[in-house]
Amino acid sequence: MAYVTEQKPADYCNYVGGEWTKSSSGETLPSYNPATGEWVGTAQNSSVSDVEQAIDRAYDVFQKSDWGYNPKRRYEALLGFAQKIEENLERLATVLTREQGKTIKESRQELAGCVDTLKYFAGAARTVFGRSVQLEPGNFGVIAKEPIGVVGIISPWNWPALLMIRELAPALAAGNAVIVKPASLTPVISVELFKLIAEVPQFTKGIVSIITGPGRSIGAAMGVSKKIDMISFTGDTSTGKTIMELATSNIKKLALELGGKSPNVLFADANLDKAIPLIGRSIFISAGQICMAGSRLLVHEAVKDEVLARLKQYAENLCVGNGLLESTDMGPVINQDQLELVTEYCEIGKREGKMITGGHRLSGGEFDRGTFFAPTIIDELSPSCRVVREEIFGPVLAVQSFANEEEALAMANDTDFGLSAGVWTNDLNRAMRMSKGIKAGTVWINTYNKNFPEAEFGGYKQSGLGRTRGVDGLMEYCETKHIHFEVE
Ligand code: NAD
Repeated sequence: MAYVTEQKPADYCNYVGGEWTKSSSGETLPSYNPATGEWVGTAQNSSVSDVEQAIDRAYDVFQKSDWGYNPKRRYEALLGFAQKIEENLERLATVLTREQGKTIKESRQELAGCVDTLKYFAGAARTVFGRSVQLEPGNFGVIAKEPIGVVGIISPWNWPALLMIRELAPALAAGNAVIVKPASLTPVISVELFKLIAEVPQFTKGIVSIITGPGRSIGAAMGVSKKIDMISFTGDTSTGKTIMELATSNIKKLALELGGKSPNVLFADANLDKAIPLIGRSIFISAGQICMAGSRLLVHEAVKDEVLARLKQYAENLCVGNGLLESTDMGPVINQDQLELVTEYCEIGKREGKMITGGHRLSGGEFDRGTFFAPTIIDELSPSCRVVREEIFGPVLAVQSFANEEEALAMANDTDFGLSAGVWTNDLNRAMRMSKGIKAGTVWINTYNKNFPEAEFGGYKQSGLGRTRGVDGLMEYCETKHIHFEVE
């Protein structure tokens, strides 16, 4: 076998006030490889008092340092961090795959995305422009953009490196102090990235901290803290609703990147040779554990049989296994709980629809060491079925068919979510009508999963609040101030 299965698990500390610190309770948080069950490392299981101290520290540093007034320093710091990740990319990709389970190819892609994002926002740090406006004779205003203060970033486990950096980069570029609370299932890759931050001298000491531990205690403590002025949360919609309630403590600014149930809408005139592998990839990438997964396929009835036969073949040809092998196309789901949840949805699918392929845990040999699930396609589901309506966060594609464009649009929008969608057609007019009609933050035409730091991303409806990436993504992390001048 070409990969190393066992490595000595390392211990990871919090990084607070520019120092490596341990949890005051002495409790720790072990992290395991979902492909093998091996112990990957141990982080701090921090307490509420640990996070309160970290918040006090960040608050002081924000008040006393020149970070918020020094865009060039911020540019150099973010660029330095990007360069460190580039130098360590292959090592970090292995850490990410060992902890999260995704394929090594996806890990490289995720870390390359981190580098690109940091470089983009390094430049953007020097473009936090306001404007001036003449208001009446002798009166003009400066509309200034300012950092908000201390920002708490709470991130998920599915793309733990990129989704942390996607928020960290603009928050720091805008001049804020930041405290990150990574997901409890992926603390190792998160702290590994902070070890690189610690090596970049341009970061003001204490301006950026990471503290690991359970969301329900320390994440919630960040949610209610009056010294935190904004929470940027990426995660489940139900947790997002809890964060909204917690944030009422001091009317915090919120940026919420939540769940999805995104459709691929496939018309009969589409280029099926291009569409089928990309639709397959859109749901089976990261074992379906991706917010923008194309988890619903809406297909025109004229091509449905052909499309299903070809998608079945695509799914059955995927090589599922340990992500460290270069030949692996799909890794495990994150843990036993997730495996059970996905199995439960598939049982519903079997009862209420027609199983085209998959629908079960993979077992035997190396599969028994991990939490592997077969790529699954379920057809003939009613619009009210839970498999169609709820985010499963696993490799499960729900298929429905339509007779015409009007019906396709209504089906695409028949969801509580609105994160993304794919439209497949060679008719430009139809593509325009559909992209205008679909209520989602991103609509891809004849492609899927294309994301760039310069293009905004976020959700309509229950998929979120605000936008990440791009100019709007930077502005989320700014306050706006009107400074008024009257000339005598
Ligand atoms: P989750 O909501 O369970 O956890 C996310 C983070 O919130 C973790 O760090 C967790 O510890 C913390 N948390 C949990 N309870 C908390 C509480 N009461 N107070 C404060 N923090 C708390 O989500 P997850 O399972 O880690 O991630 C999967 C979800 O994230 C899916 O719904 C997925 O669609 C969504 N997601 C959205 C995007 C996006 O950009 N829209 C990207 C990736 C993932």
